[in-house]
Amino acid sequence: MGQSRRDPGRGRIPRVTDAERRSALEAIATEVRDCTRCRLHQTRTKAVPGEGDPSTEVVFIGEGPGQNEDLEGRPFVGRAGGLLVNLLGHIGWTRDDVFITNIVKCRPPGNRDPEPDEVAACAPYLHRQLEVLDPAVIVTLGRHSMGRFMPGARISQAHGTTGPVDPSTGAHDATIFAMYHPAAALRTPSIERESYEDVARIPTVLLGSRERRREARLARQEAALAASAATAATSPIGPAIVDPDADPTDQLTIF
Ligand code: URA
Ligand code: SF4
Repeated sequence: MGQSRRDPGRGRIPRVTDAERRSALEAIATEVRDCTRCRLHQTRTKAVPGEGDPSTEVVFIGEGPGQNEDLEGRPFVGRAGGLLVNLLGHIGWTRDDVFITNIVKCRPPGNRDPEPDEVAACAPYLHRQLEVLDPAVIVTLGRHSMGRFMPGARISQAHGTTGPVDPSTGAHDATIFAMYHPAAALRTPSIERESYEDVARIPTVLLGSRERRREARLARQEAALAASAATAATSPIGPAIVDPDADPTDQLTIF
């Protein structure tokens, strides 16, 4: 089509500025900190909304805050977080280069698994975060997080593999990459070794996802332009005004 894509390396159409993303994420975080939608609010010290670069293309999703996270209100700041930082360092990244969050934003007492009704109550926050972040790659940490994006998969087989992300999650044209939870890697040396092998694949996964989403979004734009040209040809009132940058999947509902 030849129209310029002002952010060609990102496969994104920059209808949303970095400042808008930042303030939308902050608005979600403010709601999370006061949330009482499920019983986990009764036992938490601080809710843990998540944090990172609002313009990142890569989002890491763990299960839920542990003790240290609950005290600090920040994700992955305990031992598992230390390993996550080392894994990121293996590919030359820091935690500030990505966005890190969890399936549930408040600590389950005693680090028990979150209950299905707690996961369901918390899901709208993650959905909105993914809408705002519009990531190219979602890295799930552990089987609970993976289960949300690869239903029915087994972590022993699915870790290190990719799949398409269902847009009903809030993330459009994104690729999921499953990893073991860093806490599992801390317990089992072979899982730690595999986690280093898995993380090393992320840069390649990102390049592939960028390319796929750029093609998908361009194809939708072209289809929209062709449809509007066809309408214009038969319309007595002439051509509709088409925004060449319009992409239905980029319409955020959070503002
Ligand atoms: N484990 C998680 O799943 N999330 C955190 O934030 C910390 C530990
Ligand atoms: Fe709200 Fe989620 Fe915390 Fe439950 S876990 S109280 S839904 S923020």
